[in-house]
Amino acid sequence: MITLDNVTLTFPDGDSRITAVDHVSLSAPAGIVTGITGPSGSGKSSLLAVAATLIRPDSGHVWINDVDAATLTRNEATALRRDEIGIVFQQSNLVPSLTAREQLLVMAELGGGRHRHRDLVRARADELLEAVGLAKHGRKRPAQLSGGQRQRVSIARALVNNPSVLLVDEPTSALDQDRGAEIIDLIARLTHEQSTATMLVTHDLVHRGALDTLVTVVDGTITDTDVPATTQLETAGVQ
Ligand code: ADP
Ligand code: MG
Repeated sequence: MITLDNVTLTFPDGDSRITAVDHVSLSAPAGIVTGITGPSGSGKSSLLAVAATLIRPDSGHVWINDVDAATLTRNEATALRRDEIGIVFQQSNLVPSLTAREQLLVMAELGGGRHRHRDLVRARADELLEAVGLAKHGRKRPAQLSGGQRQRVSIARALVNNPSVLLVDEPTSALDQDRGAEIIDLIARLTHEQSTATMLVTHDLVHRGALDTLVTVVDGTITDTDVPATTQLETAGVQ
């Protein structure tokens, strides 16, 4: 579960400041895809960066499960991010020299995996490559993979340390519509399977069907929340 409580974020803008996120309160429960949509420049990426604890807000709180990120030291926030938050950006940001499987192993090495037995880490990497449909491509480097396959690797990499929160920013912007729909469907399936609290930013409402909840942001403010029917939430195991 991730909760933003009355979060405001401003950036310097000449002599004044621009408000990117304006008193936003939002909860994303486990096992659910909370979609975030809105026009370009409305503050979606800023919201996600605050949720990821990459940017500290001017005011308000970010709760990751029972932890208030604002109370953490820089090192504690880094550890929280590493262990509890998986992030997928618009571009896949893979390391060019590493194979798909190695991208996952390195992330596990940096995270909780360093305390785990090597065989368990490898098994987790292989399980995730299989889950994203890349079991046969684990030895390929990014240049040998398609855009959609690279995004699949970055999704698997984001999940390798079993995060409770998955944050995804416009993952389909570099893909054609069919590949994009496959990626959104994959994120939805993994969210349900791995029970991550997922926040997914997309400006493309063609993907509405795969999102459990849809929040609309305009000028840094939530203008609409399309909450799923209770039955859907119950199916997903949310109380
Ligand atoms: P979206 O992701 O919805 O397109 P953003 O969160 O990127 O919107 O941007 C929201 C607003 O904040 C915009 O006006 C943008 O110009 C501004 N902004 C975003 N990041 C920065 C930054 N690092 N410095 C200054 N202004 C920023
Ligand atoms: Mg953005």
